[in-house]
Amino acid sequence: METTTLNIPIEKAKVSKIDQVDFDNLNFGSVFTDHMLVCDYRNGAWEVPRVIPYQAISLEPSAKIFHYGQSIFEGMKAYKDVDGKVWLFRPSDNFKRLNISAHRMAIPELPEEYFMGGLKTLVQLDSEWIPQKEGSSLYIRPFMFASGQGFHASPADEYKFVICLAPSGSYFSGKVRVLIEEQYSRAANGGVGYAKAGGNYAGQFYPTQLAIEKGYSQVIWTDDNTHEYIEEAGAMNIFARIGDTLITAPTSDRILDGVTRKSILEIAKDEGIKTEVRKMRVSEIVEAAQNGSLKELFGAGTAAVVSPISGFGYQGVDYELPELANSYAALLKKRITDIQFNRAEDKFGWRYSIS
Ligand SMILES: *Cc1c(COP(=O)(O)O)cnc(C)c1O
Repeated sequence: METTTLNIPIEKAKVSKIDQVDFDNLNFGSVFTDHMLVCDYRNGAWEVPRVIPYQAISLEPSAKIFHYGQSIFEGMKAYKDVDGKVWLFRPSDNFKRLNISAHRMAIPELPEEYFMGGLKTLVQLDSEWIPQKEGSSLYIRPFMFASGQGFHASPADEYKFVICLAPSGSYFSGKVRVLIEEQYSRAANGGVGYAKAGGNYAGQFYPTQLAIEKGYSQVIWTDDNTHEYIEEAGAMNIFARIGDTLITAPTSDRILDGVTRKSILEIAKDEGIKTEVRKMRVSEIVEAAQNGSLKELFGAGTAAVVSPISGFGYQGVDYELPELANSYAALLKKRITDIQFNRAEDKFGWRYSIS
């Protein structure tokens, strides 16, 4: 561990809950480790974070998070290699994005040493909770919200930054079929789509429920203006393989700049795969599905890493994708997880040791 002047106080849990957890049958993000990190913003400054036993947070009913939704989060993972060493993946990108989100939501930005130092201290303390079973990992959820009170519709004067850890199994089970959205929008020009804001998710739930009722598991969002261009999946960025070219939409103020997305683009280039970052028309995807040149569609995000899509619905028609023996999705997922779990050389310098 790097030497740091930051001394994070630790209050240890009296008893560990680890023996109560069935590590062979983990869901995604539903059990939590023994500890959490808490950092308070008061009197115009972030105070030194502390590690405490995992516990409920008490808030006034007038806390602004409940009324005006000033709330952002991040999603990361910790990985344990065969020698028991612990790694993070590009954590400073999550830190930077947290502050980009904070800035947009008028939340005060967090000092880097509080994020990185807090993360290291917490993950080291609960490192026994990192599952080693293939497909499982320790999901890390940093989040920040307005704890200050008052009904006045303005930014709060107090905030909390918290990190919780959840040993997790895989995010999706089974095939992912998606609906390309034609009516609702996730994000608008000039809006908060590029921020990892809680409200972006709240706004997706209802249209997603409608899609689930129709037999799909996810919505693919299109641009709010014309609904003619594929944007992203709302928790994942989207890639299409047409012929042997891998295509993804450019990031914008409506599309989140995913760490997995940009890592996949770099790995694909390294593999000699032709990549295109450009707007993707829905009509182009439909045509490619009809003439057989659409070989793959997949989502990319920290939780599921790479999530192959087996088919999609659009304008009342269902399109199925063929099962592919040598898919880009499988190749790229293997390369990225091999780096994450320290099974392969990391020529990009993405792995970050916290042992
Ligand atoms: C978190 C998220 C992603 C994926 O980002 P990663 O950094 O790869 O985990 C994509 N889209 C949205 C809207 C997200 O919130």
